[in-house]
Amino acid sequence: MKQKIILVMSLLTVSVMLALVTFLYAALRPRALSSSFGITDNAPRAPELAAGSWLNSDPLTLKGLRGRVVLLEFWTYGCYNCTNTLPTVKRWDERYRERGLTIIGVHSPEFDSEKQIENVRRQVRSHGIRYPVVTDNEHTTWRAYDVGAWPTLILLDKQGRIRYTRVGEGKYDQTENVIKTLLAEQADGATEQTKAGANSINEPLAAVARASAGGGKGAGAGVSEKVIKTDEEWRQALTPEQFHVLREKGTERAFTGAYWDHHEAGGYTCAACGLALFNSEAKFDSSTGWPSFREPISQHSIETETDVSYGMARTEVLCRRCGSHLGHVFDDGPAPTGLRYCINSVSLKFVKQS
Ligand SMILES: [Zn+2]
Repeated sequence: MKQKIILVMSLLTVSVMLALVTFLYAALRPRALSSSFGITDNAPRAPELAAGSWLNSDPLTLKGLRGRVVLLEFWTYGCYNCTNTLPTVKRWDERYRERGLTIIGVHSPEFDSEKQIENVRRQVRSHGIRYPVVTDNEHTTWRAYDVGAWPTLILLDKQGRIRYTRVGEGKYDQTENVIKTLLAEQADGATEQTKAGANSINEPLAAVARASAGGGKGAGAGVSEKVIKTDEEWRQALTPEQFHVLREKGTERAFTGAYWDHHEAGGYTCAACGLALFNSEAKFDSSTGWPSFREPISQHSIETETDVSYGMARTEVLCRRCGSHLGHVFDDGPAPTGLRYCINSVSLKFVKQS
């Protein structure tokens, strides 16, 4: 009898532990957005699209599209960054539709007016969008894909698995290279590389993303050549603090950096690659404890990305040449720009005016 009770107790304990582990795994699982762009490491099965009104096509299902590469573009017509992205997405539709790409615009509205189908229809027509668009008024598909910002582009391979996520404008060459790579794969997921015995199906994709980050066209005037290094090479080139801020998007503590209270005339370059970023004339005292600038030397020396970490939507500022994290830009700065580029001292190197 006693043994029976012990057995039952142990079984109970094991089940409780198992439930706890399962719960913790689910709770701590990294969200898709933690990699705001780049190749997903393991390829999860893409959730089926929720029901909605279809424009430009009969209702489609991902199951029915198996064997084709699918680009889901989460957008809403009221979103400025989405409008900027549309010409490129339309070009991909023209270029790759016949070669096996299906683009689906998942219209996920922000405001009530954007839920009106006649408004969506008018916008789709006026933007000349020819690919299928489906409304997602209840954000069901949006939530299923764990989307957090407009626009978000998600690429599915021919087997219906999520292989790439890109949040925000830009990096079009990188996204297009992934499209090409996925189109070149066999419907069963095999590639020349995997046939040759590579470990991971995603390796060639990662290589494409790395290469295109460096060799892409349209990098912007003034930045003739991108600087691309592996994490290991950056570690060698930078101090641990620089590596943390520049390459891991860290933030130095306020009032601790070299430049928050620095007033000499000169320029500030990227501490990672040396690209000229800010001038001392644009520097102002923001009392935040971080060096603050009204504007960069040129919009071609920086790029911005939507950063949704820590539950806030902020605009991250990166060096356009090497992609290093510099800080964030806010719209509470002084005239005439009204902007405040809040930059880590660690990300900068001051060069005295000669
Ligand atoms: Zn740089």
